[in-house]
Amino acid sequence: MPDRERAAVAGACRRLGAEGLLVGTAGNVSVRAGDRVAITATGAVLAQLTPDQVTVVDLDGTVVAGTLRPTSELGLHLGVYRRYGAGAVVHTHAPLATALSCVLDELPCIHYQLLTLGGAVRVAPYATFGTPELAESVLSALEGRSAALMANHGALTHAPTLDEAVDHALLLEWACRLYRDAVALGTPRVLDARQQLDVIEAAAARGYGTTHPVPPVQEESR
Ligand SMILES: [Zn+2]
Repeated sequence: MPDRERAAVAGACRRLGAEGLLVGTAGNVSVRAGDRVAITATGAVLAQLTPDQVTVVDLDGTVVAGTLRPTSELGLHLGVYRRYGAGAVVHTHAPLATALSCVLDELPCIHYQLLTLGGAVRVAPYATFGTPELAESVLSALEGRSAALMANHGALTHAPTLDEAVDHALLLEWACRLYRDAVALGTPRVLDARQQLDVIEAAAARGYGTTHPVPPVQEESR
């Protein structure tokens, strides 16, 4: 695997660190290129991560490049690649996602942007970090979603690309803050199934989330 992926993972960690989603050594990030996965090393300070602190493994978890032991959540990352064909995985202990993971069973769909993640975000039941039980719990919660909260632990997002997985993590943390603020003010309304379907249809029709050039101005014939 070229150094490009290792540098990309380090860059993503520094960005998530700057945004306050990765604190200290908590959390892990990976990107897949074919049958190779570049993943953060255990014990590394993520907000200052350098490419040499990113280890490369194959899809069975065997180290093929790098000198540091991969994150203890390696099995969880590999599970997401195997089951969902993801291109990148971001796991954080982001403050608001983690707070809500301690009290909710599901983050309800109170804003249409959550449909970017597949709608309401499930909270995977608790299991000890780094165990196959935790991986299975999170993989089940991800069914039909690109995000899950992990009870009393944190959050996980995946996407076809690393940039998108990072964007999903930022969106999820924003949605968790929104929910916290809304609950402080009253009982939030939840978008019903019809409203959610309308959003999906409108987004498909308008290419939501991408920029579009304005049509060229027609010269008036005189
Ligand atoms: Zn964790």
